Amino acid sequence: MLELLDEARKLSIFTAYNANVDAIVYLKGETVQRLIDEFGAEAVRRRMEEFPRQIEGPIDFVARLVHALKTGKPMAVPLVNEELQSWFDSHFKYDVERIGGQAGIIANLLANLDFRKVIVYTPHLARRQAEMFVNKPNLFYPVVENGKLVLKHPHEAYRENDPVKVNRIFEFRAGTTFRLGDETITVPYSGRFIVSARFERIRVYTEEALKPFLPEIGLQVDGAILSGYQGIRLRYSDGKDANYYLREAKKDILLLKREKDVKVHLEFASIQSRELRKKVIYNLFPLVDSVGMDESEIAYVLSALGYSKLADRIFTYNRIEDTVLGGKILIDEMNLEVLQIHTIYYLMYITHADNPLSEDELRRSLELATTLAAARASLGDIRSPEDFKVGLSVPYNERGEYVKLRFEEAKRRLRTREYKVVIIPTRLVKNPVSTVGLGDTISTGAFTSYLALLRAKGAL
Ligand code: AMP
Repeated sequence: MLELLDEARKLSIFTAYNANVDAIVYLKGETVQRLIDEFGAEAVRRRMEEFPRQIEGPIDFVARLVHALKTGKPMAVPLVNEELQSWFDSHFKYDVERIGGQAGIIANLLANLDFRKVIVYTPHLARRQAEMFVNKPNLFYPVVENGKLVLKHPHEAYRENDPVKVNRIFEFRAGTTFRLGDETITVPYSGRFIVSARFERIRVYTEEALKPFLPEIGLQVDGAILSGYQGIRLRYSDGKDANYYLREAKKDILLLKREKDVKVHLEFASIQSRELRKKVIYNLFPLVDSVGMDESEIAYVLSALGYSKLADRIFTYNRIEDTVLGGKILIDEMNLEVLQIHTIYYLMYITHADNPLSEDELRRSLELATTLAAARASLGDIRSPEDFKVGLSVPYNERGEYVKLRFEEAKRRLRTREYKVVIIPTRLVKNPVSTVGLGDTISTGAFTSYLALLRAKGAL
């Protein structure tokens, strides 16, 4: 597996579009109490009953936060009013700030693994954001100077007036107590409440000046990992909408592939709006080679494509057989080269039977992916290629053998001759230092090792 990682590290990768700052607050009971006292228990309770779907004022935040604390359920609520940022910054001291967003996480991961060249693009790059990228000589941000494409380190490429997307994450612990009027609330489970920034100014696109250079970027890399489409809004006040941004996103993929058919992986994250989810699938899946997602996404995707019975079955029973069936439908309808699904207990690839890689090679690619994720879960972050080895000593989860058995059964029942379907159990860390970015890590490890294996066969 170390050899395969070495081969993958010879590749150059482009990644876009999303990076943000994750600002983390470890919540204390007193802090919650102060917030409730500031607005009055009665007002908070009333707003909780109204259950605001997005945060337009501080009371919306307090109401949704108290609701999350009371139920102990992890939740994410969009913050749409940019002016509220100063309210947050004056009320909280952030305990930790770290990079978030798939493109940001993936760029740092690949740079730390010493990949040949990593080009990361985000439409916004303020100084605070740029500084969260690791200080590695193989990491670049594309800029246009005097009509030419120039690759600079993100630290040298930031633009002072760009907006910063800050997601505020409130981590709460079971047992934290506070009072809401005459009611005493004790938080039943540990979890987190995320205030995700969805501002008008923050969009998902490639700047006009850079667009003509996408074919040149495509020529310089062996693969592209694209994500962040979940940040598109259905409508903007200037009249632009999701259709506009998705048309542009399609052009970007075609431009990247214009001079060379560079392989493109799309990392699919959860999209609340069914309408947007459907648009992303229909517009973009047919243009990319590879898609990665987790088990809940596959059900949502199938439901958006009209397979609601199958989707419901996956939601309710979570059977491998249904996931395989759903995967087959997806690679057929969207004509994907490869679909990768990660779940807590297993990783899966589904391809057509004519895929250049053998089932054994596909399994090796997944092995690398789970080992990389296990290393990250053990260490909290991957800082060098050496860190990968930590993953090798993480045992496979205890349901591994059962998973393999169920998979063999499923294979016998379903017609799989026209496909290659492989599955491996995950290496699972008992007490992970952090679970942030593990899905992105799996997809990055899987896609890059897939490319390395294709290359070894002369198929890339
Ligand atoms: P996502 O839901 O996209 O964030 O992906 C999370 C994935 O990370 C899961 O599907 C697992 O395969 C993997 N994972 C989660 N927890 C652990 C852990 N403690 N150790 C190793 N891998 C993990």
